[in-house]
Amino acid sequence: MSWGWRKILSLRSVVRPFIWKVVRSGAQTNAWWDNWCQLSPLSSFITPRRITNAGFNLSSSLSDLVDENGNWKWPQAWYDLYPILIGLNAPHLTQNMVDRTVWKDLDGNSCSFRSSEVWHSIRCRQNPVLWVDGVWFSQCIPRHSFHLWLVIKNKLKTQDRLAAWEVGSVTNLNLMCCPLCRINRDSRDHLFFQCSFASKVWNKVKCMIQMDNVDSTWQSIMSWMEQNASSKKTEHIICKLVIAASAYFISQERNNCLFSNVSADQNAVIQRIKKTVHLRLMGFKFRRQSSIESLLRTWKIGSDEEANDPS
Ligand SMILES: [Zn+2]
Repeated sequence: MSWGWRKILSLRSVVRPFIWKVVRSGAQTNAWWDNWCQLSPLSSFITPRRITNAGFNLSSSLSDLVDENGNWKWPQAWYDLYPILIGLNAPHLTQNMVDRTVWKDLDGNSCSFRSSEVWHSIRCRQNPVLWVDGVWFSQCIPRHSFHLWLVIKNKLKTQDRLAAWEVGSVTNLNLMCCPLCRINRDSRDHLFFQCSFASKVWNKVKCMIQMDNVDSTWQSIMSWMEQNASSKKTEHIICKLVIAASAYFISQERNNCLFSNVSADQNAVIQRIKKTVHLRLMGFKFRRQSSIESLLRTWKIGSDEEANDPS
């Protein structure tokens, strides 16, 4: 059996609690293994030996367990063995009606079977991180957000992470240096934005978004994120766009320099950030407020000119 199929089959125990039978004739519902009542599956407490000793078998359907008067066929002795069965009434069966299989969500409600619903039910859950709305928000640029998410999780293949594989490697990673400033190996904290190249770019764009109190350290960026991530204020939304665009284009320039051996161009990166954020802002509907007028003037919103910094 292939690895893929083994992985899929290993999920059976995870999804089984969500798959339920709506009993009608009872003929398509396995009495012991399917979920059809609040005690299901009955096999969790009735052993196969008890089942076969009572004259049933492991593939007995629910209709096999109910007599023509609508009473349970199982032996009276079972009520002594499993007192919990006393409160379980036999279902009302409707002949010639096929049982239905449904998905029950986390709240126990039947719902249509959709892959999104399944994922929502079985995925691992943790409390949302403070910065989540700083990365994913309705006005975001998805490829920038995805990149920023990788940066925050420190998943970019920066040289400090590659160094962990250095032992025994033929490649001499000692020769590696940040392709933007040519000093030291690059790392997440170096690229965003302590690298002399990156900090110049960041200092140039941050004055356009009134983030003067945020310095070039990653810690400073993240503490701003954690404080303002869920803010709906226009000025904060623009800040979030600029942070994500700055990280994205600095990363892109780093990769260009690394793989094509060209020199980093600071002005080109600044212009790319400004142009991309400007284009995004052009699609917004702003409520003109005095508090954001100067910001909109800085970004030339409402004019055909490209965004310029105030200096
Ligand atoms: Zn550098």
